[in-house]
Amino acid sequence: MRTSRISKDTSSLLNATSSPVRRSARASIANFANSSTFKNEESPTASPEPVDIEDVVPSRKRKHESKRTSIKRSPRKTVTVKTEIEDTVTFPPTKERRVRKPARKVKGEETGEIEVQPPNDWAEVYAAVKEMRVHGVAQNAAVDTMGCERLGLETVSPKVKRYHTLTALMLSSQTKDTTNAMAMARLQKELPAYKQGEPIGLNLENILAVDPVLLNELIWVVGFHNNKSKYIKATAEILRDNFNGDIPDTIEGMISLPGVGPKMAYLCMSSAWGRTEGIGVDVHVHRITNLWGWHKTKSPEETRLALQSWLPKELWHEINWLLVGFGQKTCLPVGRKCGECQLGLDGLCKSAERSKVTGGRKLRKEQIKKDEESNVVEKRETVKVEELLGDVLANAASNSELLVEGAEGLTKEEEKAIKGDLANAPGELKKLF
Ligand code: SF4
Repeated sequence: MRTSRISKDTSSLLNATSSPVRRSARASIANFANSSTFKNEESPTASPEPVDIEDVVPSRKRKHESKRTSIKRSPRKTVTVKTEIEDTVTFPPTKERRVRKPARKVKGEETGEIEVQPPNDWAEVYAAVKEMRVHGVAQNAAVDTMGCERLGLETVSPKVKRYHTLTALMLSSQTKDTTNAMAMARLQKELPAYKQGEPIGLNLENILAVDPVLLNELIWVVGFHNNKSKYIKATAEILRDNFNGDIPDTIEGMISLPGVGPKMAYLCMSSAWGRTEGIGVDVHVHRITNLWGWHKTKSPEETRLALQSWLPKELWHEINWLLVGFGQKTCLPVGRKCGECQLGLDGLCKSAERSKVTGGRKLRKEQIKKDEESNVVEKRETVKVEELLGDVLANAASNSELLVEGAEGLTKEEEKAIKGDLANAPGELKKLF
């Protein structure tokens, strides 16, 4: 009796102190026992809805599987994300590598004959240089106003003017255009008349009659004046004897004159007779076209033949003016201005000096301000001080040379202008003269 009572008390005590978790576990086990798998179907206490044990006691593994399933069930989401990326991501434009091909001989597909293909970028290069020559950094070159073509006087007969052109060309080799123009001016103003009552100045009769020493003095400012004065005298006799006092009208005739080569002959034919039969290739044309990689030639004559094999004939006359001026202003023989040259800035020149181009691009970027829509809102021009001083120096040097030498051919106005130029030169420069 006592034992039974103690058991009862112990049991109620245990019931009162047992944790709810424990009760819950028991209930779960009870439910498990009544599940569809193990329950007796005939049992009245069977649960109406069968429950899997894994649903009752969810395991970690189950949780994991559930997550994966949810991803699998939403494949659309994945596709959408992928589409969005494809739609919105923009790739930077790939930089196209320029391929430069020089002029080359190829076999024509249809004719089977060998033909010359021009350099692949020649038209682009040519157009850029023309733009610089007409509107850009290479405009106002000495050749534009003092080239041989411009030195024939308009006040004389066409025959005498042709002779002026030939003489200017003969004086021009190894000589700057400005210097050549000075020598021509002296001949045109000071060459004595061959007899009284005839006009003074440059013409065939006066050259035939002039004392060689005086002629040499008049042209002494040009390079190799001793040889040139001899050639001019000898040429005058050939013209008188073989060409009826006029200049030859064929290339062969021109080349037969002493001191006249193919360059002068083609330029003279073009300027004096208006017939372009070949390209006048001087050192600028030879040097610059080789710098561009259009060909690899060793002499101006080789360059002429190379250019003539593909350059359109309508450009044969122009290219000399174009490249001589470009060589005088921008692509100088010494100290090329690649930082100002459009070919360098646009990556069109294989010989561009990289450091100068980088500096030029930076300067241009600073000078051109753009708004958010890439419209140019401000453009500034910077005149380099050194360049300005360089020009003043060069002008002052040639001007002082004239004054010191006492060029009698100068008019009073010209002399006044030169003195004014020197007076306005910066102090540092004045000390040099
Ligand atoms: S980039 Fe330089 S080397 Fe080339 S054409 Fe211009 S100035 Fe001459």
